[in-house]
Amino acid sequence: MTGAGRDAEVVVIGAGVVGLAVAERLSRDRSVIVIERHEGPARETSSHNSGVVHASIYYPTGSLKHRLCLEGNAAVYEWCDSHHVPVRRTGKLIAAFTEEERGGLDEVYRQAVQNGVRGIERIGGERIVALEPHLPALEAVWSPSTGVVDTFAFVRSLESAARDHGALVVYRHEVTAIERTASDFRIDLRDADGAASTLTCQVLVNAAGLRAHEVAALAAYPLDGGVQDGVIVPVLRQSVNVGRYYDVIDPEAARTVSRPIYPLPEHAAGGLGLHLTVDLDGGVHLGPSTEWHEDGAALDYRHEADAAWAARFLEAGRRFIPGLRADQIAPGQVGYRPKLQQPGQGQVDFLLWHDRGYVHLGGIESPGFTSALPLAREVAQAVG
Ligand SMILES: Cc1cc2nc3c(=O)[nH]c(=O)nc-3n(C[C@H](O)[C@H](O)[C@H](O)COP(=O)(O)OP(=O)(O)OC[C@H]3O[C@@H](n4cnc5c(N)ncnc54)[C@H](O)[C@@H]3O)c2cc1C
Repeated sequence: MTGAGRDAEVVVIGAGVVGLAVAERLSRDRSVIVIERHEGPARETSSHNSGVVHASIYYPTGSLKHRLCLEGNAAVYEWCDSHHVPVRRTGKLIAAFTEEERGGLDEVYRQAVQNGVRGIERIGGERIVALEPHLPALEAVWSPSTGVVDTFAFVRSLESAARDHGALVVYRHEVTAIERTASDFRIDLRDADGAASTLTCQVLVNAAGLRAHEVAALAAYPLDGGVQDGVIVPVLRQSVNVGRYYDVIDPEAARTVSRPIYPLPEHAAGGLGLHLTVDLDGGVHLGPSTEWHEDGAALDYRHEADAAWAARFLEAGRRFIPGLRADQIAPGQVGYRPKLQQPGQGQVDFLLWHDRGYVHLGGIESPGFTSALPLAREVAQAVG
């Protein structure tokens, strides 16, 4: 119990990268309890992503995505260096493969320069060949500050640092109800065996990722915006967009590339274009796709083979690895993006909204992993 008879000053819902970054930050000077329904950290979006340390190339200047990703890029490397988390500054290429695509590259480069991305350059033939000898690109934007991180090790290091500050991380407990009392929140929990319990806290941080809007509804907020108790509530309802991957399973084909390579972005479709990433073990992954998920449909993290998708990935993969064959790729992981964006709409920013002790983190899609540390600092500022 804290001084005022409550269980903790802060309860954080969700032990993904964001919830644990917030816990690490706030537990430096407050009592914090993290509640997570799974049996361990990062079981959802924080472990089903590309693991890229983004450089803040694409986002509208001044947006949270721009500011937090730019700051987060440096912060991730610094954190990894001081907490022994595997990370590699691989750099990344955004490539134009046809004359028509050069125009799109202009826009990417202009936005990146305006965003102050470190070391960004436009490069042509010889430089591309020196970086990626087999890539048939005409021209590219080169981002040397992009990298690849061991996402699971990163999240575990946040959890460990939060615990070192005294935070309690409780797994296998789901938040089922939230009630606002005069000065606190009363939170009902159900554990994996069905047993019920209750917690009280002064500050409630909703870092529930794909379920952030469901948790907001438990706290009785309207999801489609409006005024409640004199407070303007933004749109909190999220959609889900699926990102499936195919892996390059042939070592020889995989060895022909050594760093992330992206085509031009497809913001209206909800992603950065079907790209290629190389993980810390040299594994090569194509994806993620962008597919709107039916509202309320179950999220299935298995990926069944599908001939139509295999053909699309093969076509996309051949841009990066010429001559790639169908037998050299196989279904990889599937991730789900929590979207405030509606189908066909342009980019929508992260939502960091707070109301009398309640903090809502909505639409924390990419570059949410890269942005988690500065996002946590913003939460600390919001709760004072
Ligand atoms: C395909 C894909 C690729 C991506 N690639 C990148 C990338 O390369 N670089 C990058 O920076 N970002 C990337 N992202 C974005 C990044 O992965 C996310 O922004 C980040 O992981 C979000 O973390 P989170 O903690 O908000 O959510 P999550 O990791 O989803 O954590 C939320 C947690 O809340 C828990 N929870 C929910 N409801 C409850 C409840 N009622 N009670 C208890 N617990 C609850 C869930 O179980 C979950 O563990 C990608 C995302 C996707 C989908």
